Amino acid sequence: MSDVTCPCGSGRTLSACCGRYHEGAPALDADALMRSRYSANVLGLAAYLKATWHPDTCPANLELDATPRPQWLGLAVKSHTPLDAQHATVEFVARYKLNGRAFKQHEVSRFQKVDGRWLYVDGETGN
Ligand SMILES: [Zn+2]
Repeated sequence: MSDVTCPCGSGRTLSACCGRYHEGAPALDADALMRSRYSANVLGLAAYLKATWHPDTCPANLELDATPRPQWLGLAVKSHTPLDAQHATVEFVARYKLNGRAFKQHEVSRFQKVDGRWLYVDGETGN
């Protein structure tokens, strides 16, 4: 488990990358949190996705078990923009396959640091 390559595409092992955050270490910045949430999607860590979602915007039911499940293919972080000490945005493109078709999710996500931890607030998707 500890030797697998991290799904976020950093090139590091899971335990040296997003795995630390999945196990409870606070993400250093919004970029790290964004990557760890992508990895959590790949690994099916619904509890982590909820724990890192702002309580104001977190959906009551998080459906990771929807069938068919998307097959995540890769993440590219385009930009990480700290706005102030507590706010940042991250633009990314995540690629996945659903029913044999390839899709891209291009999103600018907003993050907020609450009580020392970065949380996902919401995002704007586009092409
Ligand atoms: Zn990672």
